[in-house]
Amino acid sequence: MSRATTDERRTRRPGRIHVTTVRRTRRVTPRMVRVTLGGGDLSAFSSNGSDQHVALYFYEPGVRLPRPFTTEAARALLPTAQPRLRRYTIREHRPELAEVDMDFVLHGPEQLASGWAEHVRPGDELIWFGPSPAYPLTPLTDWTLLLGDETALPAIGAILGELPRGHRVLAAIEVADRAEEQRLPTRADATVTWLHRHDRDHGDLLREHATGLALPEGGGRVWGGGERRVMRELRHHFVHVRGLERTDTHLTAYWTQGETQDSEV
Ligand SMILES: Cc1cc2nc3c(=O)[nH]c(=O)nc-3n(C[C@H](O)[C@H](O)[C@H](O)COP(=O)(O)OP(=O)(O)OC[C@H]3O[C@@H](n4cnc5c(N)ncnc54)[C@H](O)[C@@H]3O)c2cc1C
Repeated sequence: MSRATTDERRTRRPGRIHVTTVRRTRRVTPRMVRVTLGGGDLSAFSSNGSDQHVALYFYEPGVRLPRPFTTEAARALLPTAQPRLRRYTIREHRPELAEVDMDFVLHGPEQLASGWAEHVRPGDELIWFGPSPAYPLTPLTDWTLLLGDETALPAIGAILGELPRGHRVLAAIEVADRAEEQRLPTRADATVTWLHRHDRDHGDLLREHATGLALPEGGGRVWGGGERRVMRELRHHFVHVRGLERTDTHLTAYWTQGETQDSEV
């Protein structure tokens, strides 16, 4: 089956507004908080799997939202109240409990989404739109390379959790230091390399490691998420230096140094 045909088969269940309630929070590592969201609304959540993400909606305080708050209601509100949007990955979906986890990197208490996650309490509301389509894991190539910083850790964890037994995976993840490493359960034949940034510039280690990697034999593909400039450089490297097909490289800007996500969405 051709890649195009498979891509067309990608799960593309349309997203919609979800009104959810924080059930609990947990520090996964010193700089990562896991927010578990639930609510009756999530019994209708259609998971697309893999690296699916959603857009969190942050309205100005004082905006009165009509109830029930539906996709149509959000659309009707747009001329008078536009939310600020932030993209986050569904780390895990537990349909039997009607709940999802999202993992937030804590990069500053003053920042919109990061600050929200740092101060959020059980019972608080979170509205989001999604999910997006997901990165298709089939057809399987001989190997998969996963690259990212901590913002991509939820997606890398979800992808590793879905890849089949024995599939060859190399993963390299840049985090602040050893305390930010996480367990990433997988049935795949995965070698995970943790890169500890310490006082190096963001993305330097990931770029150095990825461009010096010996790739396995056969045909493979690269998935990555991280800072915009780093992802652009890696895309250039894998396509123009290593000769991978552009369609086999999926490297996404997850954030941009010095810019808020207001300018991107
Ligand atoms: C598809 C997709 C999925 C994503 N999934 C996740 C996820 O699951 N978990 C997660 O934590 N993030 C994830 N991100 C990244 C997240 O959306 C951005 O980090 C976002 O900018 C955070 O919003 P904010 O309001 O906290 O900061 P913003 O208001 O957007 O930015 C404020 C300042 O902080 C800087 N900044 C933003 N992010 C970081 C960072 N990580 N480290 C250092 N400085 C930063 C910006 O350059 C800016 O100067 C994802 C992004 C995309 C596109």
